[in-house]
Amino acid sequence: MKAIYARVSTEESAQKGYSIAHQIEEAKKKAKTDDVMIYTDEGFSGEFLERPGLERLRNDIRNRMIDTVIVYDPDRLARNLMHQLLLDDEFRKHNVELLFVNGEYANTPEGKLFFAMRGAISEFEKAKIRERTMAGRKRKAKQGKVVKNDRIYGYDYDKQTGQLKINESEAEIVRFIFDSFVQERFKGVNGIALHLTERKIPTKTGKTVWHRQVVRQILMNETYAGRKPQNKWNTEGMLANKYRNEKVPMRLRSKDEWIYVDVPAIVSEEQFQQAQMLLDQARRRYTKASKRQYLLSGLLRCTQCGNTMTGRLMKNWGKYHREYTDRKNTAGAKHRGCGMVVRADEIEQEVWNYLLDLFNHPERIQEFQPVADVENSYEKKELERLEKEIDRARKGRKRLLSLVTMSDDDEFDLEEVKEEIRNLQQREKELIEQYNQLEQQLKEMQESKPNEHILQEAIDFFLNHKEEIDFEIKQTLIRKVVKEIRVIDKENIEIHLF
Ligand SMILES: [Zn+2]
Repeated sequence: MKAIYARVSTEESAQKGYSIAHQIEEAKKKAKTDDVMIYTDEGFSGEFLERPGLERLRNDIRNRMIDTVIVYDPDRLARNLMHQLLLDDEFRKHNVELLFVNGEYANTPEGKLFFAMRGAISEFEKAKIRERTMAGRKRKAKQGKVVKNDRIYGYDYDKQTGQLKINESEAEIVRFIFDSFVQERFKGVNGIALHLTERKIPTKTGKTVWHRQVVRQILMNETYAGRKPQNKWNTEGMLANKYRNEKVPMRLRSKDEWIYVDVPAIVSEEQFQQAQMLLDQARRRYTKASKRQYLLSGLLRCTQCGNTMTGRLMKNWGKYHREYTDRKNTAGAKHRGCGMVVRADEIEQEVWNYLLDLFNHPERIQEFQPVADVENSYEKKELERLEKEIDRARKGRKRLLSLVTMSDDDEFDLEEVKEEIRNLQQREKELIEQYNQLEQQLKEMQESKPNEHILQEAIDFFLNHKEEIDFEIKQTLIRKVVKEIRVIDKENIEIHLF
């Protein structure tokens, strides 16, 4: 049933001739019918919500008698915005549509604010509903039901009961993986992965290549010991972003927010714990080894002299620290380097934070590409040096040439001079080639745009390994996206992306 609400205060009816009859007439036109319920408050201010007509209307709405309310404008409902919004919200919750007769109202400042707020509230309501659905999922998990099908290797998902049941042929492989790892039958996780690949065992996705990471994830998954963690990932914001075409990564919740569900175990608790211990040991060995490893080796370049920078371990007051230096002491080195040194921990942390930032804001990738400081780059200096050298070679050649033409006797060994001229010509040619190459390189650096495809790949890789970021994964990620890191001085670096 459609309802019409009309109101005038004593002052209004005196001043504007804002009659109840006029409001009802207009509202009826909007309703396109005379079959309406009419609620009026004559001589009541819009300042308070306690009005007999409005009370009756709200009551009838609660009793589901109304599906549409037509009002001349929001001002008729209430004087202040909060009350208007409150009523609108209340109506909406009872699936009642609120319509206004006066279309121009939407263009007044008050109207604009009302509609903007109304939109915001409805967005907020949607978010609340989403939250409630998630709370529902959480409850389900607490009741011991598996809430969604994660396609865990070793199990099948029973849609009806929402439970996992063991897939015997896959479970056998899971047991094999745990047995082999705990008994150290193969060379670590890698050895197991190789063995499974050789035996052509299909993975959950039907592939026949077993990656080291897949095996490691199986060994780390508590589900196999009979408890499946739920609620691990926070997907908030992903839905909203679907419409905006941005990619928002899921966030891993802290462990105390996880909820465990009992599932049939595939391996014993003892074996699972044993595997965790071995994984831990391997991790510790790895961290120890990585104290001597250099995350950025091969990527750093000193912008002052153009030398690449390599890692070295230094002892200072009895304490070791890692650093990167552009010094080259090897006999074959072209330049010795200008002596640039940066602390490894600091620059590695900085580059890693930068990448995390980039992965979390892939839509801002354009901002992440630095503007190369060409004027102060070693390339620029090198170009100037080459220019001088080319000039010198050219002048030398000309001087020799004039000597040859001027000499009329056997003052020189002509052949020797000619040979020298040819050498200088060759040298000049090489220098010009070098010059052009360097110039091209500089141009490319200035014009390069980051490749979004590569970034997307890196983000996917990052999300897949988020829970086990170690040196190797960091290195892989950095190498995927970073072309070169230019060290300008101790505080400033330029990170150039692919
Ligand atoms: Zn240098």
